[in-house]
Amino acid sequence: MAILEIKRYPERILKQKTAPVGTINGATQKLIDDMVDTMHAARGVGLAANQVGIPQKLCVIDLSLRGEKAPLIVLINPIILEREGVIEAEEGCLSIPGYLTAVKRAERVFVKGLNREGKEISIEGEGLLARAIQHELDHLDGLLLIDRISPLKREFFKRRYKKQMQHSKSET
Ligand SMILES: [Zn+2]
Repeated sequence: MAILEIKRYPERILKQKTAPVGTINGATQKLIDDMVDTMHAARGVGLAANQVGIPQKLCVIDLSLRGEKAPLIVLINPIILEREGVIEAEEGCLSIPGYLTAVKRAERVFVKGLNREGKEISIEGEGLLARAIQHELDHLDGLLLIDRISPLKREFFKRRYKKQMQHSKSET
């Protein structure tokens, strides 16, 4: 059991596309356990491997913190096969602490991938689950939620974020 360091914007690894997991071995199992611990410690509902510095196509999702009755989901090499509807809702990211913004996502998704045993699984998600799946799969493609908002909002975010960084530098 280990808590890993969560990479924060603008670290480069967050912008990189991850590579598919080849063999699911002991190292993969340990990474999954550590990612679950890290996600829980940060009180997040999802975490992608590149957020902890490992550029592999693997993510974990656990909505139980939000009071949803949902099991822990481990998705290896996931792909979204179907999307339906559009819905906008507020979203945050463990790699951009303190920032919340409205993001448009598909209302329902159908995703396929492997579970931690390497067995093929498919999940039909809607609501928060659909949102979390799309958010984590974006991470695996090197995309952050700020890549899903308007260029104007993104500019505002970048300016504010830079100021915050300068501020925190002068404090330490
Ligand atoms: Zn995120």
